Amino acid sequence: MSLTPLEPWIAQKTADRGPRTVDDESSPLTNDEEQRTMVERPSDLRRSALESYQIARLKATVELARTKSRFYREPLAGVPEITSLDDLERLPFTTAEDVRADPLAFVCVSQDEIARVVTLDSSGTTGTPKRLYFTKTDQELTIDFFGVGMSTFTGPGDRVLILLPGETPGSVGDLLAKGLERIGAVPIKHGPVRDPVATRAVAVREAATVMVGVPTHLVRLVRTMAPGEPVPPVHSVLLSTDHVPQAIVHAIEGAWGCTVYNHYGMTETGLGGGVDCEARRGYHLREADLLYEVIDPATGLPAAPGEPGEVVFTTLTREGMPLIRYRTGDYGHWIETPCPCGTSLRTLSHITTRLSGPVDLGGGLWLTQPDLDEVLFAVDGILNFATVVARAEAGPRVSVAIQITPTANPDTVRAEALNALRALPPLTAAPRLSLDLHLTTEPVAPPTLAKRSIKLA
Ligand SMILES: [Zn+2]
Repeated sequence: MSLTPLEPWIAQKTADRGPRTVDDESSPLTNDEEQRTMVERPSDLRRSALESYQIARLKATVELARTKSRFYREPLAGVPEITSLDDLERLPFTTAEDVRADPLAFVCVSQDEIARVVTLDSSGTTGTPKRLYFTKTDQELTIDFFGVGMSTFTGPGDRVLILLPGETPGSVGDLLAKGLERIGAVPIKHGPVRDPVATRAVAVREAATVMVGVPTHLVRLVRTMAPGEPVPPVHSVLLSTDHVPQAIVHAIEGAWGCTVYNHYGMTETGLGGGVDCEARRGYHLREADLLYEVIDPATGLPAAPGEPGEVVFTTLTREGMPLIRYRTGDYGHWIETPCPCGTSLRTLSHITTRLSGPVDLGGGLWLTQPDLDEVLFAVDGILNFATVVARAEAGPRVSVAIQITPTANPDTVRAEALNALRALPPLTAAPRLSLDLHLTTEPVAPPTLAKRSIKLA
């Protein structure tokens, strides 16, 4: 098993030459010999070099935010000097609501240094969109991560079909394409899958060997193939933007004989955040750019080792809009056992659920989107589904609209889906449950990249 390529990349960034400054334009992939030397150091020395670097960068970030951002000026005013990573706990949290309330208050550079503004759909009740601001240097660091992260399973000459938005300069697909060019791969910008037949034709014509996209888009590509239709020569698929059901991983790997990897990131992390190594048991993270924590969401204290909690991160190299202890709302845990790839980097478990995700069925029973995903995507013929839960006097009512392939037998799919749902623990245990399934060949959810979730009636 190969060592994650993030290890030499981060080792070089955090080498004893001191912390990288935002003015440092040296390319991190130029000096092979330096990288080899760094990686040959024992794991604990690599870890301690990284932590010294993180302390120095954390100190610089706090200073930047305190002196340049309106939002952080006051909360960081009395914070004592950072001398260890434990000092992180003394810093205030930042929430999505803080960013939504006044995004410009976080900006630390002049407006003309902002290269890209990302406006995210409002998911809250306020109706105010969230905005994130990035400089050229911020984008550069993301491009760098995308190239190195992709090199886990992508080499020179690989042809990478990008099934994410890439038309706008600075968009995720655009930065990914630039990162791929740096590792000698050939990016093919396609955009999200709207018509699976057309996308497969592009994949075959372009001889795509790698694909990057959204789980529900990729499952639609494999499950709508006609018998005997040519299979694109794909050896690896990277899934991103929403949690990745194992049932979808198995469907894609089974159909195409490829390997599926997970990526974790969000606009706030600078799009890229962390990626599987060949062991595929959790993400290794951009630890030179982002300092991650897992906290108990109730107390704000670090979660006990290996215990699940809310994922929180602090930017270490962000110029435009640094974020300190940003609460992601994602649930994860540290994997404490060493990774078989041999890295000194930490491993964060795959994210399955969000803090706001579980839906109360009453009687202490909770239903989650990942639970539903695992049982329903395991049924062949299901392309997507949307769930609405209503709680009434008579008992909970769970309605699931299921999009099936035009060639699937609706009766068979209905029977399998019902069996699978009835066997799901919260649904098995719910008294007076009513379960409605509606099968259709039409889309059941709008074609956005938004995270899927259970709706309440
Ligand atoms: Zn690993």
